[in-house]
Amino acid sequence: EKRNPNEPEFIQAVTEVAEAVLPFIEDNPKYGADKLLERMAEPERVTMFRVPWTDDNNEVHVNRGYRIQMNSAIGPYKGGLRFHPTVNLSILKFLAFEQTFKNSLTTLPMGGGKGGSDFDPKGKSDREVMRFCQSFMTELQRVIGADTDVPAGDIGVGGREIGYLFGQYKKIRNEFTGILTGKGRSYGGSLIRPEATGYGNVYFAENMLKTRNEKIEGKTVVISGSGNVAQYAAEKIIQLGGKVLTMSDSDGFIYDKEGIHADKLAHIMYIKNEKRGRIKEYLEKYPEATFHADERPWGIKCDIALPCATQNELNGDEAKTLVDNGCMCVGEGANMPCTPEAIEYFLEKKILFSPGKASNAGGVATSGLEMSQNSLRYSWTADEVDNRLHSIMNDIHEACVQYGTDKDGFTDYVKGANIAGFVKVADAMLAQGIV
Ligand code: NDP
Repeated sequence: EKRNPNEPEFIQAVTEVAEAVLPFIEDNPKYGADKLLERMAEPERVTMFRVPWTDDNNEVHVNRGYRIQMNSAIGPYKGGLRFHPTVNLSILKFLAFEQTFKNSLTTLPMGGGKGGSDFDPKGKSDREVMRFCQSFMTELQRVIGADTDVPAGDIGVGGREIGYLFGQYKKIRNEFTGILTGKGRSYGGSLIRPEATGYGNVYFAENMLKTRNEKIEGKTVVISGSGNVAQYAAEKIIQLGGKVLTMSDSDGFIYDKEGIHADKLAHIMYIKNEKRGRIKEYLEKYPEATFHADERPWGIKCDIALPCATQNELNGDEAKTLVDNGCMCVGEGANMPCTPEAIEYFLEKKILFSPGKASNAGGVATSGLEMSQNSLRYSWTADEVDNRLHSIMNDIHEACVQYGTDKDGFTDYVKGANIAGFVKVADAMLAQGIV
């Protein structure tokens, strides 16, 4: 903490990993050598830069840009860009740290990174977003590259932003290479990348349920968020016969007790992706639903909860409410959405709980598949990508079970994911010496 003052999210993420990994190191002393864990908790490189841009009224704004290059032991840095007013060094370091273990879990050769800006795309015109992205990439291009660091999207960075960023990189560098993932289909994007994180989260939940002879079909599901991850988690739940009861944004949540079926979800996608509107507008078309301003959905009775919005959005009290209401499975779609108190409670009650670094790894895994396709200058069919995604999620589940199952048969997916992710990075760092 002394080394990283004012970085609570980063310290929270490192503490969680250390708690899982230290007992493992005691049993496997070779991983205690050469200050491995300490080295992992120090970014290889942090770049911070000024991002000036002009709005539609010609007024000048100044934002701050970041790229955290956390760990390149097993491959080029890889991890998303977040544009949100809450972005700061602590949040991006926590995300980059998590990303290192997550990428390792995917079994693909990708190191860990993360970046972004405190820019708020909400309420900005397309042209304002474009000018911001161009200014951001003018600096970022110095530190990224197809074999060095390949960013992707995250909160506030979707297809529109990736397009503008890619265009500026190409213009400055005069090269068409796979320096970003999440690209549009017409210029090197992969099928299934938009769906991958949400779908992957549901595939992982399916695997967890299977260990207790349960399935998604017929289950009620509470989802937070209404962005990329939440939308496709909802889509897959609906396809598998589950009933989605809620979705949310930073204004509050909607509760539709009849279930948000496919047509209703299509309307949410229209509101959020095309109109760039607010989730409460759902009620204009479906007045039977209710809107709960400034509230989170965890008080709604459900079998499964999928937090898919942001970090620390589900606390200890809310965890207790969920379990008291009969919730049997919580799958993190977002990064670190559950507080340490919430996780402790889920583990104590032995419900099925998956940490984001395992259950939301489908997004970056499919980004890895996009990189492979770019290198091949070829593109796979949707089924091919979806099958690979599905089998990667199965493998991650398997790895968690291998490292996280206690003597009594209970699988602690937090422990399993952290140790499985750690081992591969640690082996590579040991082999590469003290660098
Ligand atoms: P989007 O920007 O598409 O959506 C984010 C959603 O979360 C929106 O509904 C947003 O509401 C809501 N939200 C954001 N911040 C807050 C907040 N402080 N309080 C309440 N609600 C909030 O992002 P993604 O869906 O891509 O990302 C969601 C989460 O998933 C993040 O934690 C991200 O790191 C993680 N993730 C994403 C991956 C991806 O492939 N996209 C991969 C792996 C993890 P509003 O519209 O009001 O801002």
